[in-house]
Amino acid sequence: MESSKREFLKIAGLTALGLTTVPVLNVFAENGHEEHSEVQEEQGTRYGMVIDLTKCLAAEGCKDCMIACHQAHNVPAIKDEGEEIKWVWLEEFENAFPNHENEFAEKAWRKKPTIVLCNHCKEAPCVRVCPTKATFKRDDGIVLMDFHRCIGCRYCMAACPYGSRSFNWSDPRKSPISEVNPDFPTRTKGVVEKCNFCAERLSKGQLPACVEACRNKKANAITFGNLNDPDSEVRELIRTNRTIRRKQSLGTKPSVYYII
Ligand code: SF4
Repeated sequence: MESSKREFLKIAGLTALGLTTVPVLNVFAENGHEEHSEVQEEQGTRYGMVIDLTKCLAAEGCKDCMIACHQAHNVPAIKDEGEEIKWVWLEEFENAFPNHENEFAEKAWRKKPTIVLCNHCKEAPCVRVCPTKATFKRDDGIVLMDFHRCIGCRYCMAACPYGSRSFNWSDPRKSPISEVNPDFPTRTKGVVEKCNFCAERLSKGQLPACVEACRNKKANAITFGNLNDPDSEVRELIRTNRTIRRKQSLGTKPSVYYII
């Protein structure tokens, strides 16, 4: 099929899905080259994250961010892969970025462990499909879960193209938790959960646990801040580095950027 016809059909398909607000330029931004064009000046706060994969990979084997996150949020350690609860975890680069597998001449890169988490998408499909508003987006861009409202339908899990949500198939309170944090609620069986950008820590003026752990390690691979502030550290990193986002051609507008 000639490419113009293919592109037309792609736009028509997105229109049918109600994604017409996605700028046309970004529909074709599959390789990250148009990445910077999407950052438009907006008022208020939109929290986002920049993960420097080169720094992260330099700290080979480090899992401090994951440990800190899971401790802060009482994430149970469930070994069964089908029932595992994940807030921050590792994916092979080629799985995390299926559209970027040809970006690297070095084959070795494709299998490199890449930190992934909820992208706190600006156009979050999980929010759109939740029938009880248990998952919702705050004005500052953070996509949150109200555990009490979750009825366990898992529509959000089906809608999330990043596998960022986990379902509690069993009672998480009966699974081992390394060190219980009394300040964060434990969950119940039948509830979906995911990364919350440490909303509870931000409200106390603290950085997300993963960012703090990475700084303590002196790796400084994770930066957090306001994407709407042109003078913020995250914006400076995006401006001065080659960044990509996961599956941005889907129009979800992830708030997590990766420096490669
Ligand atoms: Fe929702 Fe998935 Fe986007 Fe997170 S990454 S906001 S769970 S669609």
